[in-house]
Amino acid sequence: MLLTCPSCETIFRVASQDLNVDGQTVRCSVCSHVWFAVPPRIGSISPKKSKRVTSGGLKGLRVLLMTLLLLGALAGGVVHQRVVVTAYLPDLIPGFDLLGMTIRANIDKLEVIGLKAAHTGDTLRLSGSLRNNSDFDAHAADLLVTVAATDGTIINEQMVMPDDRIIKAGGSTPFFLQLNVEKTDEAAVTVVPIAKRITR
Ligand SMILES: [Zn+2]
Repeated sequence: MLLTCPSCETIFRVASQDLNVDGQTVRCSVCSHVWFAVPPRIGSISPKKSKRVTSGGLKGLRVLLMTLLLLGALAGGVVHQRVVVTAYLPDLIPGFDLLGMTIRANIDKLEVIGLKAAHTGDTLRLSGSLRNNSDFDAHAADLLVTVAATDGTIINEQMVMPDDRIIKAGGSTPFFLQLNVEKTDEAAVTVVPIAKRITR
């Protein structure tokens, strides 16, 4: 181990065991300067401490990778396509959130298909699928189900989430809902995708 006198800058070779691990007062034999010397910390980290350093390092690496992916997305001008990008890489959603770019399902490309309603007693069973009409994978949207009487009075209104969060390009995901409806003789059921904010 090498110690340098802060006053005359003479370098001394000192055996590690000759210096207290927490440091100690030493005197320069050349200029008589007295200072408090602390041995370098290398090799003196406890196993517990070094483990913590490692996991912190990994976490930092993940954040770094995420940032790089985001920067790549930004550089590629993919920001405009972030809704599509996050359908493939949902891990990026929090990153976009941090940048103030909210992810919402693109409801223009989503279509409710195969809507079926059957009621027994006061129970209305509703099923169908949400189809992705775009050429890319897409976020599924929550669906607003409204049951209205012929005079327009809303009898029941409920949100339902389809089975899958991501719908493959050209694919669909089913949904099912059971509603309690009293006067269903003349009721109209509508199911509308809602462009709600998507979080992970
Ligand atoms: Zn000195």
